[in-house]
Order: sequence, then structure tokens, then C-alpha cells
Amino acid sequence: METDVLIRNIEKRKREILDLTLKLISIDTSEGKEGEAALFLSEYFEEYGFETRLEGEEGRENLILGSFNASMIFNGHLDVVPPGRPEGWRNPPFKPYVKDGAVYGRGACDMKGAVASMAVAYITLAEAFKMDDILLMFTADEESGGFAGLGMFANKIDATMGVIGEPTDMNIVSSHKGSIGVRIRVKGIPAHGSKPELGINAIYYASKMIQDLTEMEFVKEDPVLGKPTLMVSLIWGGEKLNMVPDTCEFLIDRRMIPGESGDMALKEIRDVVEKYTEYGIDVDVEKMFEMSPVKVDEGERVIELARNALEKVGIKPSIEGMSGCSDARFLVERGIPTILLGPGKTELAHGYDEHIDIESLEQAAMVYGLMMYECMVMG
Ligand SMILES: [Zn+2]
Repeated sequence: METDVLIRNIEKRKREILDLTLKLISIDTSEGKEGEAALFLSEYFEEYGFETRLEGEEGRENLILGSFNASMIFNGHLDVVPPGRPEGWRNPPFKPYVKDGAVYGRGACDMKGAVASMAVAYITLAEAFKMDDILLMFTADEESGGFAGLGMFANKIDATMGVIGEPTDMNIVSSHKGSIGVRIRVKGIPAHGSKPELGINAIYYASKMIQDLTEMEFVKEDPVLGKPTLMVSLIWGGEKLNMVPDTCEFLIDRRMIPGESGDMALKEIRDVVEKYTEYGIDVDVEKMFEMSPVKVDEGERVIELARNALEKVGIKPSIEGMSGCSDARFLVERGIPTILLGPGKTELAHGYDEHIDIESLEQAAMVYGLMMYECMVMG
């Protein structure tokens, strides 16, 4: 099969990409319910004669085609974020429809469209190739940390490169920030509200810490991603109006740039909050989770494959960074250079009336197909 034939064959399956996208959107795959879509896709592939595996937590199965030792992994997540208020939607979020050349519904853009594009690219190529070089995985739990999804399998995967179909508007996203979540517990001493001088007010000290933390200056800067950020997002404290509060807890969302580690970021936070222990309070600092930043070198083969494929379908390749996290980190932590590349605009993901252009789905299928092709033919 020549690449021109491949492109034509994918074009012939336009309708199939659209139907698959619509079908996938109609399955509500909010956190914990991904399995139904995985099962549907597994039957879809089996009808074409492929062998599939469903693995993972009950009800949240992940779909796997191919060997963990294949040279290239293509991945998409099946879960979607909750639809939010029903009145925010013109039509119900899980009743997809087509309007003005776009598909509407929860997950259209993030990222059932990309899943459909990948699936059809794979099926089209399989008409001419044994697909031994490709590992295709459609996984659960991306929106909630990925540990019941790609994260479950990462240490078995031995691919040399990876592509995740997150909505990047077909730009190559080769880097993104990482993050840690940190819980700070401040303990003071309770006292009667009429004699505050006898107690140590945990809320007061927590607020001083928050002030210091938000005034922290970050020196390091990534040329693409900019500086790290820090935000206090939740706070609890006190018990009663007439009691000096002896406890206060707050959570920190700290975003890291490539080159930073969770331990480094945690130490900076510790240094700020622990200096208040000299005033008689106790401070407990706990790292709740860590998601590492991602950076793929521009010289990597996966970027070359993406560039060539994009050019072939008439898209000028552009390499970008992203502030949010993704499942790519699981593969990058394994030393597998992994990019994000998918149809749909990032800003439409997670919103009301989420949608994606049908044309971009076809383009994405061609780009994925061309990348698979080049990987299989040229290695
Ligand atoms: Zn996504």
C-alpha cells in the first residue's frame, strides 16, 4: 500500500469515523463507567477479525490491541469529565448530533473523536499490514489521574515512542507541566474566645503561610511552558465562633516545569511553612500525589513521524507546550518519548456544547495512519 492509497482508503471510511464518534459519545463514560465503551470497541474490532483484550477494574476495563513490546503505542482515553449543569447544554450531552460540520456532545473533542480516528486508521492499515509494530490502547481514568487506565500498564509497555490523541488542534505537543498536590496541616492551641492571647490561632498562621507561599518567586523558567505556578485551592479550619481554632488545613496545587521534581517543589513549600514552627505551632506537610512534567526532545523520531504525516495532509506542523497534565507522563517516565497530537481545540474540551469538526477527525485519521505506516515500513 502506498501512502496515497492509504489516504484514499481512509477517506472512504469518513462515514465510519463519524458514526463511531457519535456512538462513543452516546455512551456515558464518566469516571467509573468507561468499561461499556471499551466493550463496544472490542466488539467493533472483533467484527473485523482482530484479537482484543479487556483488562482493568471491573466496569472500567481498558481495551488493548497488540503487544506491549510493539514499537509504537497509540493511546486515547475513553473517560469524559462530568457534563455539568444540564441547562448548560443546548442538547443533552450524551445525545450526540451533527450541526454545521461538527459533532456535538460530551467527549466529542476530549477525546472520543480522536479515539474513532485512531481506530479507523488502524483498521484501514490492517487491510495491507500485519499490525505487529503497533500497540493500540483505549484506556480509562485519564481525567482522574490515570492510575486505573494507562498508569496500570505503563511498566509493562516497551514501545520506543508514543502518541496520545488529546485535543491539540493537530499541533504537536511535546511538553507539558507536571504537578504535585500538597496538604498542609497546621496545629495550634485552643482557648476561650474571650481570651485569645492564651491560645495559638491555627487559622492566623495558616493565612501567613498562604501569603508567603503565593508571594514565592520562581526563578527557573521553561522556554515553552514559562514558570511554575502555585495555588491554594481548598481550606478548612476552626470549630466554633467562640473558640481559638487549633486546626487549619489547606491544599496546594503546585505546577512544575520540566527539570523540576516533586521533591524539589515540596522542599520549597516546606521551607516556607516550617519556619512558623518557632511560634509554637505544629506543621505537617504531606505530598498527596505527583505527576511528572513531560518534555520530548525535538530530535526524537516520533516528532519526525508526526511532522512528515502532518505535512503530507497539508497541515503545517507546529510544536507546542501545554500547561495541563496528561497520561503521556506514564510513558515518558518509562523513557518512551510520547507526544500529544489530536483533533479538536483544547479550549472546547470540558465545556458546554463540546464539539469537534468532522473534517478534523478525517485529517487526524490520516495523520495517525501515516505515522503508523511510516513506523511499520521504515521502522
Ligand atoms: Zn483528554
